[in-house]
Amino acid sequence: MASERKRIFDRRNEGDRSRIAKEERDCTMVSWQEIWTREYRGRWTARLVPNIQKWTDRKHGELNFFLTQFFTGHGLFYAYLHKMGKVTVPTCSHCQKREDDDALHTFFKCTKWAAERSQLLAELGLTPQIPTPEAVVSKMLEGERSWSLVAAYAETILTRKTLLERERQRREHLVRPAIQN
Ligand SMILES: [Zn+2]
Repeated sequence: MASERKRIFDRRNEGDRSRIAKEERDCTMVSWQEIWTREYRGRWTARLVPNIQKWTDRKHGELNFFLTQFFTGHGLFYAYLHKMGKVTVPTCSHCQKREDDDALHTFFKCTKWAAERSQLLAELGLTPQIPTPEAVVSKMLEGERSWSLVAAYAETILTRKTLLERERQRREHLVRPAIQN
């Protein structure tokens, strides 16, 4: 943004300030889009938000604690925690799929949340046959209501996952050797 301001300043004698500002904004957007598309670590986010201009131009849609996890995949996901060295396995313990527990698995594939997911898809007007992340995010960008529905969905699942994780930790903590001296 600083370089965009500088470029606009450098062109201050060319006249028509709003046209110059728009040209420079488009230029910034193109270079952001290039970085965005290239960025390896942001693969999941780049899949959800393929068009950065559509994302930044939206007039609604606050990112909260839960939606940030939804969009980044950084949070209560074993695949992520495993990468951080916090847990021993990356797989989901809530279903039988034996897949890595990442944002894609949690929100779009895990059978544990099948009921919540099909309710969300119905409310968004999407058919369960194509519950693709891209379709869901595209709906979110269309309107405030869809955005809120997905926000509520993310909050419900992540809150329940947190409770289940706490229970698991308590259980493991309570296990004591069968024979004590
Ligand atoms: Zn699962």
